[in-house]
Amino acid sequence: MQHIKNYINGQLLDPISKKYLDNFCPSTGKVYSYIPDSDAQDVEIAYQAANQAFIGWSNTPKEKRANYLIEISRLIEKHLDKLALAESIDNGKPLKLAKTIDIPRAADNFHFYGTGILHYASHAHSMENSAINYTLRQPIGVAGCISPWNLPLYLFSWKIAPALAAGCTVVAKPSEVTPMTAFLLSEICIEAGLPPGVLNIVHGLGNKVGEAIVSHPGIPLISFTGGTSTGKTIASIAAPMFKKLSLELGGKNPNIIFADCDYEKMLSSTMRSSFSNQGQICLCGSRIFIERSIYEKFKLDFISKTKALLVGNPIEDKTNIGAIVSKEHQQKILSYIELAKTEGGKIICGGKAKIVDGDFEGGYFIEPTIIEGLKYNCRSNQEEIFGPVVSITPFDSEEEALMMANSTIYGLAGIVWTENLTRAHRLANNLKAGIVWINCWLLRDLRTPFGGVKASGVGREGGFEGLDFFTEPKNVCIKF
Ligand code: NDP
Repeated sequence: MQHIKNYINGQLLDPISKKYLDNFCPSTGKVYSYIPDSDAQDVEIAYQAANQAFIGWSNTPKEKRANYLIEISRLIEKHLDKLALAESIDNGKPLKLAKTIDIPRAADNFHFYGTGILHYASHAHSMENSAINYTLRQPIGVAGCISPWNLPLYLFSWKIAPALAAGCTVVAKPSEVTPMTAFLLSEICIEAGLPPGVLNIVHGLGNKVGEAIVSHPGIPLISFTGGTSTGKTIASIAAPMFKKLSLELGGKNPNIIFADCDYEKMLSSTMRSSFSNQGQICLCGSRIFIERSIYEKFKLDFISKTKALLVGNPIEDKTNIGAIVSKEHQQKILSYIELAKTEGGKIICGGKAKIVDGDFEGGYFIEPTIIEGLKYNCRSNQEEIFGPVVSITPFDSEEEALMMANSTIYGLAGIVWTENLTRAHRLANNLKAGIVWINCWLLRDLRTPFGGVKASGVGREGGFEGLDFFTEPKNVCIKF
């Protein structure tokens, strides 16, 4: 069985402890490879390599840095089939999703920042005839990048690409639950000839490798995507060390549907925003609010489409819903379904683990689940479930919908379906969220700011904001 290796100083290495963890395939429940159980010692050698590489990399002309990133992007495209299959086996997501979304987006991330850095400029502020200020944007140093399991290579590359483009070197940790494509990326970086130490990938547990990165005194900035409680732990370690932090955290996003919407478009998009990637996308609309006059019609149509979704072998083309990423996460989702029942929720579709026969009977599947009758402020409607589970709730007025939408501690994304332009703008203005989609979902322009408010995070990724994060502005004032 394959042993995944750390990628440190341009080499594929065993962890210093020589210990490995089991890597499970979510659709079979079987161990299929081993992950380095790295620790602070591995992080230290990765840091030393990154620190040594920093002077050379940060002084490499941006055109040359761009060439490396564009070459990595090209190689990701070249290895698309292999990467997509690896992502599907490792994460449980349908292969067709990995092929059309995850891996192409990882290639786009490198290409976007490889070309983006060529257009990145800083400001100058003239004080009429007395002085001029110009601002340098300097790469900060060794960046720590920590990513989650739901969109493994997609989110990993979304951090690494702007960091490298900006001239930082990186010590990165993918989720221990889905390490495979990060490992394959290290092979791609070797193939692309990326100089040793520029990118270092250390595999292992969050509380060992992740914390060693966050608490390392030589790593002055941390870009993290993951759960809100992990974000709190990271902030509590990093803040007293005055580290620069970008935290992309959880969500409990509202999907608000008005009677005047384009119904068919709304319905097919709502299927995607509810259940894509088994509902394990931080941007999924897990609380669906429907104007009362179309509630019953929507409910019947939504149930019938959801019942038609095929749950099973992620590799098969006809599969709509693959496996949940891990046994623990499957149990967490099922426990929230039980909680919803005790809170007065009625399960009107799904609600149970799904047994898939044959090779997949040990897999972690859950039927796509719709719950109605929950109060907007009960726990199962306020806490992030992060699975193929949505609640549906009628509303009578825009004010009521907005109040319920804004009622959680989260504020990542909001979705609105209406043909009324004035109402669309009003809601966009009043939703407490970092991202609002009107009559669409997950339509992404990589130049736009990406991130959440409240407990959904601190800071923004995307576009030049990503490059701003990995650079420090320094103002130079010259008197004439
Ligand atoms: P976690 O917070 O559990 O883990 C995220 C990463 O942090 C993993 O690599 C994890 O390692 C690591 N980690 C865990 N504990 C620590 C620690 N103490 N110090 C440093 N690193 C640590 O999130 P999940 O992987 O479970 O991902 C799901 C969450 O991510 C959801 O809440 C989802 O909403 C959020 N998310 C947010 C997005 C956004 O853009 N806002 C996008 C996608 C997901 P390990 O895996 O080994 O535990």
